[in-house]
Amino acid sequence: MSFVEPVALSTLTTMQVGGTPKSLQRCESTQELYGAAKSAWLSDEPHHILAGGSNTVFADDVSELNVILVANRGLEIVHEDDEKVLVRVQAGESWDEFVAWAVEHGYAGIEAMSGIPGTVGATPVQNVGGYGQEVAQVITQIEFLDSETHEVEIKPASFFNFSYRDSALKHGLRGVIGWVEFELKKLGGLSVPMASGQITNHVGAPYGSQLPLRQVRDVVIELRSSKGMVVRPEDPNSVSCGSFFTNPIISYGKSLEFPEDMQRWRMEDESQVKISSGWLIEHAGIPKGYHLPGSKAAISQKHALAITNTGGASAEEILQLARYVQERVAARWGINLIPEPNLIGF
Ligand SMILES: Cc1cc2nc3c(=O)[nH]c(=O)nc-3n(C[C@H](O)[C@H](O)[C@H](O)COP(=O)(O)OP(=O)(O)OC[C@H]3O[C@@H](n4cnc5c(N)ncnc54)[C@H](O)[C@@H]3O)c2cc1C
Repeated sequence: MSFVEPVALSTLTTMQVGGTPKSLQRCESTQELYGAAKSAWLSDEPHHILAGGSNTVFADDVSELNVILVANRGLEIVHEDDEKVLVRVQAGESWDEFVAWAVEHGYAGIEAMSGIPGTVGATPVQNVGGYGQEVAQVITQIEFLDSETHEVEIKPASFFNFSYRDSALKHGLRGVIGWVEFELKKLGGLSVPMASGQITNHVGAPYGSQLPLRQVRDVVIELRSSKGMVVRPEDPNSVSCGSFFTNPIISYGKSLEFPEDMQRWRMEDESQVKISSGWLIEHAGIPKGYHLPGSKAAISQKHALAITNTGGASAEEILQLARYVQERVAARWGINLIPEPNLIGF
């Protein structure tokens, strides 16, 4: 097993906060990953599975925590015909490198999720998505080590009960993902029909158009960059976890109580509406760039939904700002915002 000298978790997470753990185990193969997880489950000590660290905020003191780092790489086409490919991707592969690979090879279905940081194996956890696509649309099966049974099994996507930014893995199902299999389409270099008005408006095409894959990737990265949503060393607004809160889903009836200019999206289930947390935050009197007095945690200058570390913030400062936002939004709009990132060790 590859224990390495523990380093501050601020260096392994995009929010750049978190202290030094008790131990750090870097697992470069799926077998190592499963072995490390089983040993951790058999011990009484606290542990955490960390991958790209782009959706995780660690506490300042994590000195009792044992961290297992997912670093298994590899990608394999397991089936190919005229219409589709099935691709099996190891958990530790970079998600965005996988998207770039798919776009380059003319495989459609994940192009609108370009520029999302982190690893492939973390994407099922919160059913990662953006610009009208989510991984639940393309995942066929997952190799999963269950913490209850300690058995490795290949589970169908339905086992994970995916919904908006959610899966069974956020509701009691515990285990480790070794690889994820995706079904991507061959559409002659075109994307799947675009379900994002932001993309189609940007290129002046009708909603639902199929666009060249490369164009979709470029547009999405451009749109995301303008909001500080691509991790770049030169963009201080990207020292974050992306969106800090999920967008609330409320009944259609309740949505009518909100001002007409509030951003909202109809759900497949037409009795429900997704509303914009960013709008709720700004309209609760918290502008972009806001910070509590003396704090180094701030709302992003580019996006009200992202909390950023403006340089040397503590984890506690990040959470103080998050709690303040929740309180203000609850007081003004009666909505409890739910944090999206995993908050570990608080
Ligand atoms: C600038 C920015 C923009 C973002 N934009 C988006 C967006 O548009 N849409 C979106 O959905 N998310 C977005 N995110 C959030 C984040 O990128 C995703 O949630 C991503 O999938 C996290 O991957 P990770 O490898 O960094 O996970 P980590 O933060 O390391 O882990 C996240 C969770 O997954 C678990 N986990 C990780 N790997 C495994 C595994 N192999 N087996 C079991 N559990 C595992 C961890 O224990 C933890 O609970 C953004 C983040 C940033 C910083």
